[in-house]
Amino acid sequence: MDLNNIQHLIRITQTSIIENGFLGWCAVGSDGVRITMESALTARDRVGVQDFVLLENFTSEAAFIENLRKRFKENLIYTYIGSVLVSVNPYKDLEIYTKNHMERYRGVNFYEVSPHIYAVADNSYRSMRTERRDQCILISGESGAGKTEASKKILQYYAITCPASDQVQTVKDRLLQSNPVLEAFGNAKTLRNDNSSRFGKYMDIQFDFKGAPVGGHILNYLLEKSRVVHQNHGERNFHIFYQLIEGGEEDLLRRLGLEKNPQQYQYLVKGNCPKVSSINDRSDWKVVRKALTVIGFNDDEVEELLNIIASVLHLGNIQFGGEDSGIAYITTDTQIKYLSRLLGVDGLVLKEALTHKKIIAKGEELISPLNLEQAASARDALSKAVYGRTFTWLVNKINDSLAFKDESYKNPSVIGLLDIYGFEVFQHNSFEQFCINYCNEKLQQLFIELTLKSEQDEYEAEGITWEPVQYFNNKIICDLVEEKFKGIISILDEECLRPGDASDITFLEKLEDTVGGHAHLTTHKLADGKTRKVMGREEFRLLHYAGEVNYNVNGFLDKNNDLLFRNLKEVMCMSENTILTQCFDRVELKDNKRPETAATQFKNSLAKLMEILMSKEPSYVRCIKPNDAKQAGRFDEVLIRHQVKYLGLMENLRVRRAGFAYRRRYEIFLQRYKSLCPETWPTWEGKQVDGVSTLVKHLGYKPEEYKLGRSKIFIRFPKTLFATEDALETR
Ligand code: ADP
Ligand code: MG
Repeated sequence: MDLNNIQHLIRITQTSIIENGFLGWCAVGSDGVRITMESALTARDRVGVQDFVLLENFTSEAAFIENLRKRFKENLIYTYIGSVLVSVNPYKDLEIYTKNHMERYRGVNFYEVSPHIYAVADNSYRSMRTERRDQCILISGESGAGKTEASKKILQYYAITCPASDQVQTVKDRLLQSNPVLEAFGNAKTLRNDNSSRFGKYMDIQFDFKGAPVGGHILNYLLEKSRVVHQNHGERNFHIFYQLIEGGEEDLLRRLGLEKNPQQYQYLVKGNCPKVSSINDRSDWKVVRKALTVIGFNDDEVEELLNIIASVLHLGNIQFGGEDSGIAYITTDTQIKYLSRLLGVDGLVLKEALTHKKIIAKGEELISPLNLEQAASARDALSKAVYGRTFTWLVNKINDSLAFKDESYKNPSVIGLLDIYGFEVFQHNSFEQFCINYCNEKLQQLFIELTLKSEQDEYEAEGITWEPVQYFNNKIICDLVEEKFKGIISILDEECLRPGDASDITFLEKLEDTVGGHAHLTTHKLADGKTRKVMGREEFRLLHYAGEVNYNVNGFLDKNNDLLFRNLKEVMCMSENTILTQCFDRVELKDNKRPETAATQFKNSLAKLMEILMSKEPSYVRCIKPNDAKQAGRFDEVLIRHQVKYLGLMENLRVRRAGFAYRRRYEIFLQRYKSLCPETWPTWEGKQVDGVSTLVKHLGYKPEEYKLGRSKIFIRFPKTLFATEDALETR
């Protein structure tokens, strides 16, 4: 992608003015709309710069935020850092996503129009088409910042602007309809976002040689299964439960044994928030039901899927009786009856499995009864496993339907979309935040490698000496987390496997013993045996690339083990529900090896993701949430500063500015500025490079301000270009 466009400065003001309806001021010149210097400067002042690379004071966070604020106030939610798009959630519908807008961005150079998500989409598409290189668009940001909306906008852009035939139309429909289904099962209302994705998603869109979308594939990461059994105050379970209860037809609900009131279900009452004003469960149900059909689910499959969803609700209502520490027994037989019918399992066997645990030790089966607490947690473990695996099944099923089926065409081109949780720092951070932040370390590493690499490649191609850029390489943190034997995940796994007295605290102690001296990890213990007051005894602190985060180890072992007792697995394998029998494979029972831990599974899936992304040309969208109240027009500076930091935006900008801010092909540069030098005006007869050289010498460019490559001039600082551009204006 060509970062530099000399039209840039003029366009910034020009497009801002167009956006703001002041087109009437402009005088029209030979090369399109021209504006007077005065109005250009006024506009630049008012709406900020559309590329942070242009900020004079590029190391100042205050200047960065001020620029965001100016633009946000003018409803200009998009700004670039070079080729990275920064987006601030407007929390209101802006009229910038119409078909007209799509047309405006089609095939247009990145910098000739104001920053937009469509520009990113279009640019990736064109690079894929012209360079035949697979692309990926990485969208990050904290919950509620607008990641999922951005990915939907990109998908819509392709669905509308790409060529289509009848067959392609089916694929486009399916691609679009996969969203409501995945959101129904994978999204929920949280305090931060009424439609928060509780899983990470990577989606490949495949294109044929004509550039038409012909298929897709989705990879999902870390569904937040704990939400199935518990929600914090003001939050909800996954949307599908409420949609089914509110929207399901009477016959259907009767068959499923469900009442039309979410408050009846233990798994839906924890957050005390059955209704959300921004959500219409009833109409969403219709959308989802239709989407399932478009994607290709037949009636039997839908029935089996809903049987499972209803079963999870019935499971949640199973109660146990018995003394506190005594043997538990089930007191709610109605639920068992429904479960046995809906899942096609033997009620007695299920009852037994919910109150006993079976383990195999040295080839012998040992069965022991569970107490109240253990039985409740076995029940919840089953609900989480059933829901989590059904979700994965659903994704696979969608993948089958999106699969590219044309055998004659082997290698479709691909654009990947990554919509994944950004850095998370809460008051209380646990295993989930640890995994999420580890994922962000990996993405940051990828960003650094790819950004610097592409810069380096261009300099090399142009024959310009590469001057290494100073940046923090976060590989040291990735290693600390993932290294074999002595990384945090290895140590955690070791504790999970160790029989006997292993606990969250022994895990923490082992961390202290093994990596206690690491520059990026601290615990409350100091080397001299004293303790650090600011840290809790159950915490360890990681110094991430974006800042410090304290993790509380409470629950790390359980969450990493993610165990489901053997007899519960056996019951699920015996189910007559064919979705469940695909989710719970008998091979799992025969194979007495322990399944991979949650952290190791995540680590492996991230490694695969990195491989996929590495093989593609990346574009970045960094999303920012302007306030915690989900309100339009409110720019909460503290919150935004925090995100600018955790998204590593200042670092982005520094890396971007460390090399040459601008580059432009000789003929275009000369064409634009030749009038500023008597020797190049009106025409330059010699080689283009010599003309540019003569021109910039005449303009007084100092040697350290620019370099001449094979086909382009590279300009180090924006101010050099500003001055030239100003000279053109005041000439
Ligand atoms: P994330 O996926 O980052 O958690 P979402 O994409 O779900 O966040 O956005 C949260 C909410 O913010 C959306 O439901 C929508 O109401 C609003 N929103 C996000 N992006 C936009 C946008 N570009 N225009 C208008 N509203 C938006
Ligand atoms: Mg989301």
